[in-house]
Amino acid sequence: MAEVRALPTSRLWLPPADRRRSLWALLVVLVVLVLATLVWLAGRYEASQVQGELERDTADAVSDIRSALTRNIQALQALQASSPTPGSWQPEAALLLREHREWLRLEWRDAELAELAHVDTPFRQPVFGRMSRASAQHEVALACATARKANGPAYSSSYFVPQSDGLGMEVMEACLPQVSAGRLSGYVVATYSLQEMLVELIGKQYTRRQEVSFTEPDGTRLALHGSVRRGSRIFSAQQLLDLPGNTLVLRMDGWRSAPDLFPNLLTALVTAMTIALASVLLLLGKDMRRRLRAERDLADALAFRKAMEDSLVTGLRARDLQGRISYVNPAFCQMVGFSAEELLGHSAPMPYWPPEMADEYQQRQAIRLTGHLPPREGFESVFMRKDGSRFPVLIIEAPLISVLGEQTGWMSAFLDISEQRRVEELSRASQERLQATARLATVGEMASLLSHELNQPLAAIASYATGSLNLLDQPAAPGSGFDPMADLRMAMRRIAEQAERAGRVINSVHDFVRRRDQAREAVPPQALLDAIMPLVSLQARKLQVRVLTHLQDGLPRALCDRTMVEQVLLNLARNGMQAMDRPELRERELVLQVRRAASAEGNRWLEFSVSDLGSGIPDEVAQQLFTPFFTTKAEGMGLGLSLCRTVVEQHGGYMDFRANEPRGTVFRFTLPAA
Ligand code: ADP
Repeated sequence: MAEVRALPTSRLWLPPADRRRSLWALLVVLVVLVLATLVWLAGRYEASQVQGELERDTADAVSDIRSALTRNIQALQALQASSPTPGSWQPEAALLLREHREWLRLEWRDAELAELAHVDTPFRQPVFGRMSRASAQHEVALACATARKANGPAYSSSYFVPQSDGLGMEVMEACLPQVSAGRLSGYVVATYSLQEMLVELIGKQYTRRQEVSFTEPDGTRLALHGSVRRGSRIFSAQQLLDLPGNTLVLRMDGWRSAPDLFPNLLTALVTAMTIALASVLLLLGKDMRRRLRAERDLADALAFRKAMEDSLVTGLRARDLQGRISYVNPAFCQMVGFSAEELLGHSAPMPYWPPEMADEYQQRQAIRLTGHLPPREGFESVFMRKDGSRFPVLIIEAPLISVLGEQTGWMSAFLDISEQRRVEELSRASQERLQATARLATVGEMASLLSHELNQPLAAIASYATGSLNLLDQPAAPGSGFDPMADLRMAMRRIAEQAERAGRVINSVHDFVRRRDQAREAVPPQALLDAIMPLVSLQARKLQVRVLTHLQDGLPRALCDRTMVEQVLLNLARNGMQAMDRPELRERELVLQVRRAASAEGNRWLEFSVSDLGSGIPDEVAQQLFTPFFTTKAEGMGLGLSLCRTVVEQHGGYMDFRANEPRGTVFRFTLPAA
């Protein structure tokens, strides 16, 4: 079975260049051949016309001669009719000769051919001047014998008569027998000049245009008359002049100025058409070449567009105004797992819509089809693959405008943002881990403070316990008024109190370190400060810092993730106290303050500030303050401030700092009010 392979659409079918060229050459050759044949046929036709005309002229000329000869015979008969005597015959014959230039001489002879009388033409010297008449006797006798036999006029064959001027002429004898009372009484012999016959007996119209001659059957010219030749091409026609006793050949030669390129209108027309046809062919060829080039360009453009669409990672989909899919690119098909055939022509609900969202999407599409423009920056949605799995997409839609400027549908681009989502999730998780780590680091730093703080209650417990044991060892002396039980009870109460105090210290650290669910809740600002206060006081006591808190009256609650915000406050407080940890600084005061933000929307934001009277922040430090891992402390991690700002910004607030009066720094941040 033959293998059927689809032609790649990028390569439209074009004949190979060589084949196309040879086809063109063949066409041109054929056209040239046809046109040459036409020109040749036109020439031929014209020649045959000329030839036919010549033939007709020749035939007409022959019949002219024949009828003239017949008339001449009648004239001769009339000459003899009046029974003349040689004396009366001569003047009449001379008269006749004047009218007939073709005759050179008229003779009246008796039955034995003896001459009775003769007259020579008045138009020239007597013909038989140089050559005697007797030398022509043979021709005369032959003609007259034929005439007698036929009992009618007869002619001799022609012969040459030299003239006294050195030239000569071809002549022919005509003999007419005379019969009176049934007996031959004599002959009239007329000598014709062949040359003059051509001049006199043939219509002038023939000799004007062509050369007329008498020839012998072998082609020897006997007499010639007519115009000089004009053209190079010769046409000739011959016709037999059959006379009793002699046969002459009348020949006409016509010259044409042929072979012209434009011999006549027909040929000219054909030639003009040839030129027109050739020009049209040339133009067609040019047009064809242009067309081919345009086709090739188009094919290239198409191929480029296709390659572009195929290699796009963005899904593309076009819908018509009724919401039917009219185009999808491979990236889109790959995204949703449906083939182009399954999608084309489909309208809502689309197969890639999750069934639970179909209603919402249908509404969205309806809104779109009424002409509402989608947001320029696109919107997010969830699609379903063919295998049922859901994935988030970013859709950017725009009206599809045709070249005529009309909207013919909607064009949409799709980005599969699952990967983006995964990365966001990852970074959020790692951020959380980082914060937890930072918290632990804070705790580690505080472990030494803790041990110091726990020392006191533990020492107190230990001494109370020792005292109690002593009391138990000394039995009370009755009546001494000393009640060991009362002392013991008091010592036990103190032990319990100190243990509780130690437990609170442990708990405050534990509470801080324990990871709580990340959730926004409405927290009174006081509660936030209270939560960090035990840890702050631990350090404050060690560094001899006075900690003051100022809260405005009637503050709203803060909407925040309390663990995070507590850590921010703790970080800032700790930084402030550390900045005051210098021997030269006598006055050490840390102020934690909460009030409404001093902005236009003051009642919607709370402003927290932590101010110290420390060393302040030099410019070169200020520039990198929030850069992760930037620290000026030997044991510092440099994470505190960068995390603080991230947390505040996650809450929609902002964080900044400024120099404090008379010295030190104030860190401020805002949080939304509930
Ligand atoms: P760490 O406390 O681990 O060094 P932070 O990000 O909290 O990291 O602080 C970065 C640096 O900013 C500190 O090392 C310190 O030099 C400077 N700094 C922060 N708070 C203050 C303050 N209140 N006064 C002076 N310098 C400060």
